[in-house]
Amino acid sequence: MEKIQDSKRFEHTLGVEYTAAALAMRYDCDVRDAQIAGLLHDCAKCLTDEKRLSICKKNKIPITAVEKKNPFLLHAKVGAHLAYKEYGIRNPDILNAIRSHTTGRQNMSTLEKIVFVADYIEPGRIHAPNLAEIRKLAFVDLDKALVRILKDTLDYLRASGGDVDPMTEETWNCYNK
Ligand code: FE
Ligand code: FE
Repeated sequence: MEKIQDSKRFEHTLGVEYTAAALAMRYDCDVRDAQIAGLLHDCAKCLTDEKRLSICKKNKIPITAVEKKNPFLLHAKVGAHLAYKEYGIRNPDILNAIRSHTTGRQNMSTLEKIVFVADYIEPGRIHAPNLAEIRKLAFVDLDKALVRILKDTLDYLRASGGDVDPMTEETWNCYNK
């Protein structure tokens, strides 16, 4: 990852790796799997949009309307593909955790939730609102932290006029009960 990511992204990657490991310890998840998923989650983040789109086309990975308009969103799907193809990952739970790390999805596994939450709270993140509270919550109740992150993400996107991936809303509807 150090070779293919810029230094800022690599620092984030290491942050997600060890935050995911700490959460795995807390929630009885495989620590090694959490580290691997954390290390690989943004493996397609430093590609160009053209490259991401061409990898999708070549491998028949479906592209949604929001993704077509915002191809950086594809880094999760393409990341899972590369994790399988280039990095030899065969554990479907790790691949799912990479695939769902930006939008979440319905019925996420503990590992998927861990990577999603770790991506948001890792120490290098400084701009998100309510970070101190969410960081604490993550180690108390993983589902509540997940819902809180989804809510803040949706609020932020709506306020800033950004495109909301319908998948994020779907995840929110699934967990906001
Ligand atoms: Fe990402
Ligand atoms: Fe990330």
